Amino acid sequence: MFKQLINGEWVAGASSSRNINPSDTRDVIGEYAQADAVQVADAIAAASAAAPAWGLTTPQQRFDILDAAGSEILARRAELGELLAREEGKTLPEAVGEVMRAGNIFKFFAGEALRQGGEAVASVRPGVGVEVTREPLGVVGLITPWNFPIAIPAWKIAPALAHGNAVVFKPAELVPGSAWALADILHRAGLPRGVLNLVMGRGAVVGQAMLDDARVHGISFTGSVTTGRRVAEACVGRLAKFQLEMGGKNPFIVLDDADLDVAVTCAVNSGFFSTGQRCTASSRVIVTDGIHDRFVAAVIERMRSLKVGDARKAGTDIGPVVDERQLAQDLGYIEIGKAEGATLAAGGEAMAHNADGAPGFYLQPALFTDTTPAMRINREEVFGPVVSVQRARGYEEALALANDTPFGLASGIATTSLKHATHFKRHAQAGMTMVNLPTAGVDYHVPFGGRKASSYGPREQGRHAAEFFTTIKTCYTQG
Ligand code: NAD
Repeated sequence: MFKQLINGEWVAGASSSRNINPSDTRDVIGEYAQADAVQVADAIAAASAAAPAWGLTTPQQRFDILDAAGSEILARRAELGELLAREEGKTLPEAVGEVMRAGNIFKFFAGEALRQGGEAVASVRPGVGVEVTREPLGVVGLITPWNFPIAIPAWKIAPALAHGNAVVFKPAELVPGSAWALADILHRAGLPRGVLNLVMGRGAVVGQAMLDDARVHGISFTGSVTTGRRVAEACVGRLAKFQLEMGGKNPFIVLDDADLDVAVTCAVNSGFFSTGQRCTASSRVIVTDGIHDRFVAAVIERMRSLKVGDARKAGTDIGPVVDERQLAQDLGYIEIGKAEGATLAAGGEAMAHNADGAPGFYLQPALFTDTTPAMRINREEVFGPVVSVQRARGYEEALALANDTPFGLASGIATTSLKHATHFKRHAQAGMTMVNLPTAGVDYHVPFGGRKASSYGPREQGRHAAEFFTTIKTCYTQG
């Protein structure tokens, strides 16, 4: 039984649940504790008690713990990557890459603990000094999705702790193992009791209890727009600070002058890798007339070489979908696309077993062509390996199509024209913009986030993470 971490102790849940390997559903990874509202209240009480002293620790103390955690994560990347691939279904190289990203995030924020500082400002009054400083929020609730089971918790927990907050962390139901491993590493790295609490279980119970508790001063949430709205309503209701990272319907433009190989690699990587289960996936590819047919043919050719299979097997390009429900959603959108009149140009078949006969949630990546902007497959997030291609007459129309979406997370363009690349960087309505790079490839030390329905509140990652995890104090001194 994998337990929860509450007030520095590993405790059983009010109930328990199992998590299953989506590559082989006969493989039970473990039995996990599930909290009830009383245990969530205990975790919040522990964090409330621990927060004042943790907020007053020296930057060196916080550096040492975060740096040690980062070192352990990096040293154990193969083993943690194996667990992540087994639990979530991304391929082993992708999983190891995610673990390394998490380790590097802890290293970065260890440094941020040392770099914290304020500013001295001249007063408008004689003899008065003004200092602008940052202080911790206090207790923060961190609620995370299943698709990046280590990196997303890392990019919330590391800045929260570096900036002196106590944490109540609630991972997604499907990935308790990665969350447990992360909490175990941080606990052993020397965090004082109560500074990091791990509570596992259903969103409607555990997450909701965190949202509704006045002792939680801030909520950092990543997940769907539907849940994000709930988080916003609860936090506005009690005037708590909140930050939301949600879905995407990210456009990738391919212009006539693009390098075809670069365009295909970017589109295939960001559309299908990690089984398309990335908020930054480019699920809409907008292609200008002159290159459209060549591009589509080359993508289909590349798709033929993609191996769908067991996430941990060498040679697998695309692992399984995370669970049965997500697979049903992906297949549902494939039917919607066909019914809307789009052409299913390649893929889209579910497979009940992999090549070795193991039962799992497998789906051949799907490519739709002849799609129009109003189609649901061009407007709604599928969150699977389903990409739709739209035609555009030229750059201006492609840009207009790219921006015609309720979302605004990532955006990309393949072009050899400096003029168009420069214009796109300025006019893409998204928080992140890539030129000749996949929309799904981001660094760990710079801001991450979007606009419109994709994000709300300050950015995550990098130095800007301080905006959410601290509150500003302005001090005036006479004399
Ligand atoms: P989800 O919204 O179903 O769940 C996210 C988290 O919220 C889970 O921990 C869940 O238990 C919790 N939750 C559910 N109901 C709750 C409630 N009433 N109160 C409090 N917490 C509650 O999302 P998911 O299916 O786990 O993740 C997929 C979504 O996440 C996709 O939309 C994807 O685009 C998005 N995502 C966004 C980013 C980003 O940074 N923008 C990154 C990764 C994933």
